[in-house]
Amino acid sequence: MQLTDLTLLELAAKLASGETTSVEATRACLARIAQVDEKVKAFLRLDEHGALAAAEASDARREKGNPLGPLDGVPVAVKDIFLTEGVETTCASRVLEGFVPPYDATAVRLLKEAGTPILGKLNQDEFAMGSSNESSAYGPCHNPWDVTRTPGGSSGGSAAALAAREVFGTLGTDTGGSIRQPAAFTNTVGIKPTYGRVSRYGVIAYASSLDAPGPMARTVGDVAALLQVLARHDPLDSTSAPADVPDYLADLEHGVAGLKLGVPREYFVEGMDPEVEASVREALKAYERLGATLVDVSLPHTKYALATYYLLAPAEASSNLARYDGVRYGRRAREAKGLRDMYGLSRDQGFGPEVKRRIMLGTYALSAGYYDAYYLRAQKVRTLIRDDFAKAFTQVDALVTPTSPVPAFKLGEKVNDPVSMYLMDVCTLPCNLAGLPGVSLPCGFTKAGLPIGLQLMGRPFDEAKLLRIARAFEREHDYVRRPAPI
Ligand code: GLN
Repeated sequence: MQLTDLTLLELAAKLASGETTSVEATRACLARIAQVDEKVKAFLRLDEHGALAAAEASDARREKGNPLGPLDGVPVAVKDIFLTEGVETTCASRVLEGFVPPYDATAVRLLKEAGTPILGKLNQDEFAMGSSNESSAYGPCHNPWDVTRTPGGSSGGSAAALAAREVFGTLGTDTGGSIRQPAAFTNTVGIKPTYGRVSRYGVIAYASSLDAPGPMARTVGDVAALLQVLARHDPLDSTSAPADVPDYLADLEHGVAGLKLGVPREYFVEGMDPEVEASVREALKAYERLGATLVDVSLPHTKYALATYYLLAPAEASSNLARYDGVRYGRRAREAKGLRDMYGLSRDQGFGPEVKRRIMLGTYALSAGYYDAYYLRAQKVRTLIRDDFAKAFTQVDALVTPTSPVPAFKLGEKVNDPVSMYLMDVCTLPCNLAGLPGVSLPCGFTKAGLPIGLQLMGRPFDEAKLLRIARAFEREHDYVRRPAPI
């Protein structure tokens, strides 16, 4: 067994007992990256020097008996959407080429304060817009379970790096499924925390009312340990919640006996892959055997979630992305004649086709004459979707659904058909519109050996219970132990 095969918590235990060191673990990750990342392309940028320096500092603290916490010395990596002081941050866009942030995102700062060396920046869809990692300006990321397929998106690199055992934990962001869907496609675990639970400060904004940064890892316990570090009120983010932070590991093994799990009928959608459906139905039976009660519930406005999201998210994006004008950050068109020309050319050269499409959609939805018909109406439907969930949660503790209607699709298969790409998000978007926490965890494989993901959604700030429900299933199955064939 190699060091990189350990889970994050197993490595943490070995660091604590002195069986290994952070420098050894960091070198093992770097060696694994050198071995496989040419095929996976999970990393946009390595920070070998920074990671090794942090690992050495961690080992020195351990030697003195002063670790910063349980994760001190565990190597991680972060999606390129997170600002990292002194390390180029592009959000996988040409428009930010050469941009070196002067400060860390709060989530990155918290990881550093916990002592984790940061190996580098992970591939993603450009500005997190996409479900396949194919809109990255630096080329797609490949799924370690089948390199001809997508690892999902937009946090494709964050998921693929874990599945390829290049790193022990990662940060992703989830605006409409971007943590959960890549987790489902790669046999990894990801949690989209309640909106406001993890700070957005220093996370490049896509759709500010939906964006949720969160951790990804190979097991539920690993994700819980990372969330423990990240869940914190942050005065630098006005939407950060001052809610208490529970101990996410304390109740993890307490099982599901007596819990009520809702099965929303609208999530077993037409066109769903039969193997995905069968595997999710099996998981439901497993929960019943473990002592949970299944309750048939309805979320009647689910069918409007896709249209609502694809109006609101582009609307917010068109406003957020106005700042990339060639003046303040990154790339500037040098050949431009005059200021207006420079704005236009810099944006034209800097943004990829999917980002341009979103900016146009969003600008249209917000423009005079269309605002009432599109943006305002979508906001009203968003409230109806939120109310559906609130009603369901008066009856049940959590909801269980598929994460994605299909397993990982082929690279190139949907990239020229935006609507079919948007349809991939049908099970994940409603959770963001309602601001709720959601987890994806491994729930089996197709006959062809592709991972299938199970989604759990919970009440606001009920992450601990969701993780406990996820762990009850994980404990009974060995999916997380199966290594990707890379
Ligand atoms: N696929 C969705 C989109 O393209 C969600 C992306 C995300 O969660 N960042 O907008």
